[in-house]
Amino acid sequence: MQDVVIIGSGCAGLTAAIYAARANLKPLVIEGVEAGGQLSLTTLVENFPGFPEGLQGPELIQRMKDQAARFGTEYMAGDVTAADLSKSPFTLTVSGKPLETRTLIIASGASARWLGLPNEKMLIGKGVSSCATCDGFFFRGKDVIVVGGGDTAMEDSLFLTRFVNRVELVHRRDQLRASKIMADRARANEKIHITYDTVVEDIFDVNKGEVTGAKLRNVKTNQITDKPVSAVFVAIGHVPNSKIFKGQLDMDADGYLKTHDGVKTKVPGVFACGDVQDRVFRQAITASGTGCAAAMLAERHLEAEANGGH
Ligand code: NDP
Repeated sequence: MQDVVIIGSGCAGLTAAIYAARANLKPLVIEGVEAGGQLSLTTLVENFPGFPEGLQGPELIQRMKDQAARFGTEYMAGDVTAADLSKSPFTLTVSGKPLETRTLIIASGASARWLGLPNEKMLIGKGVSSCATCDGFFFRGKDVIVVGGGDTAMEDSLFLTRFVNRVELVHRRDQLRASKIMADRARANEKIHITYDTVVEDIFDVNKGEVTGAKLRNVKTNQITDKPVSAVFVAIGHVPNSKIFKGQLDMDADGYLKTHDGVKTKVPGVFACGDVQDRVFRQAITASGTGCAAAMLAERHLEAEANGGH
């Protein structure tokens, strides 16, 4: 029986772990299939306070992990496939085995959203990717497409210019969603060419088992263009990892967990923090902030339980 189980090992989960561990609660972090969360897939983080020169996302995560371990956090590889929150203690299924806990901190984050094209699925890992920092290296000297108009699309495009010959940034509207500083950087880079009002309709070539091009459609003129490219990087946002809580916790139409009074869910003793409950800010620092709050509330909950009430 655990006092505190934390689902997820991104900055929300690891900050919760630091606080819970320093409160002597020996938290157990279930690392999940995307261990380290989104920061571990990024490059330079320039806006995390305290690092004026910036630092690499994976390094920031490793530092948080070491910090939490120093105070007694335990880590378990694996993924939570089911949860029963109907009675306390709560029961989780991790890698097929049951695990009981008095409090639960859900910091399961969000995963990359895909375009939903049949050929996209078949070509994932063969030129279709949601992780420029993981796969950009393979396309040295090639022409590639990045889909999306947010900060991730800008960051991915800029990162890819280190390797590739040309980035075609394809965005479905006539205006970028990205912050001004990131959009300006992308616009100023001569390897990046922005194509507005355009969607990717198909990706070739499944028969060859690699990406050879993409079919683009201008949504205003309906003009179709076939673009020969070696890769399509999809950077169109994320989907919250909340599926296993469906029917047990409140969520909005897109699956973000609903919380009240900060990070409380409707089940006492179950808290949600980071990107799985935040569709607005989605920053490392805000995820860490809510992770801290979740750990403090978990501690209070355990104290109240020990004293015979909530
Ligand atoms: P966003 O939700 O901000 O942007 C997603 C983009 O993808 C939008 O431009 C959206 O278009 C487009 N899109 C969504 N669905 C589709 C679809 N089905 N087909 C085509 N295009 C689609 O996600 P990001 O991942 O870019 O950013 C998430 C958060 O992380 C933001 O808060 C961002 O600021 C932050 N971030 C910050 C960074 C930094 O500061 N360095 C780096 C990376 C992320 P539309 O605009 O039309 O909705």
